Amino acid sequence: NKQVVLTEYVTGFPKESHLAVRNGGKIQLKAPQGSVLVKNLYLSCDPYMRGRMSPPKAGGDPNFASFTPGSPIQGFGVGKVVDSGVAEFKSGDFVWGVTSWEEYSIISNTKTLFKITNTEDVPLSYYTGLLGMPGVTAYFGFHDVCAPKKGEYVFVSAASGAVGQLVGQFAKLAGCYVVGSAGSKQKVELLKSKFGFDEAFNYKEENDLDAALKRYFPEGIDIYFENVGGKMLDAVLSNIRVHGRIAVCGMISQYNLEHHEGVHNLAAMIYKRVRMQGFVSFDYFARYSELLDDVVPYVKEGKIAYVEDVAEGLENGPAALVGLFSGRNVGKQVVAVAHE
Ligand code: NDP
Repeated sequence: NKQVVLTEYVTGFPKESHLAVRNGGKIQLKAPQGSVLVKNLYLSCDPYMRGRMSPPKAGGDPNFASFTPGSPIQGFGVGKVVDSGVAEFKSGDFVWGVTSWEEYSIISNTKTLFKITNTEDVPLSYYTGLLGMPGVTAYFGFHDVCAPKKGEYVFVSAASGAVGQLVGQFAKLAGCYVVGSAGSKQKVELLKSKFGFDEAFNYKEENDLDAALKRYFPEGIDIYFENVGGKMLDAVLSNIRVHGRIAVCGMISQYNLEHHEGVHNLAAMIYKRVRMQGFVSFDYFARYSELLDDVVPYVKEGKIAYVEDVAEGLENGPAALVGLFSGRNVGKQVVAVAHE
């Protein structure tokens, strides 16, 4: 059973050498009572996994507990049930949820598993993205937390990624004007040509982010879907409109810093009456069926596109995961362990 294990806790930027691929020995293809045994097919590379590579902190959320050095790391993934010790799942079912980075996993916490009922309209790997955790994040984060109205001005950072590409498309479907930022020319092109963003820019080429936002939003920003934090948040606070909303989804620019950057323009929230709200995808898992009902028809009609960056084989998992923090991925980063 090939596995990807954490070699040591990480401080600063994660490197491939913080992860190792090893043979975990023979696995019994039998699920104990109360568990399911899955063959992992697609693993999801998610930025929050960086937090779980840090040393344990007292009082941390158990959902984000530190990985154990020497043991396989965990994350969301798609698998096929090989054997089941619970009534809800049977062998042959496809599932998505929290699993381990290895060929076969015994999953004892089956509450975090969703059965995949639609395998025809979308590729199975999309359940790591569009119809998985990032999809829930984008769908409810945008509709619930941002409460968009037609005609509003929306800005999305890390816009070409797993979450951002969806937020931009949901914003267009809601009748908003949407601009995205991303870290390369290729990503900027993708935003405009594939995902229908009205405008997009490469934040790495802008030495004055405030001026860049003024160029793209001469009338200001109503909604900011925050994925990066740091200097971008400060620039947005200088350009937000009265009654603006900021959905704090992530702050990837801060995850590898020992000391997080300060935010200087928070006082803008007062006179602009801004609402800034953090949220976590788990809060919305109970409403997952709403995402399926709404989004699958759009995918079938070709009204929502999804771009993945698939690394083949567990061997390429470490590079794919740490690559999130240098912007190596173009679209949703997936690791294909097996294709069924
Ligand atoms: P992506 O697919 O967008 O991949 C990460 C991207 O972040 C990289 O490709 C890179 O793109 C960008 N990035 C990396 N480092 C920096 C930096 N220093 N400054 C600016 N951008 C950077 O990831 P996801 O879509 O999965 O996640 C996006 C955000 O959403 C993350 O902050 C993540 O933590 C958060 N998130 C939150 C969830 C929640 O429940 N609240 C759930 C899922 C995700 P580029 O080339 O454009 O720089």
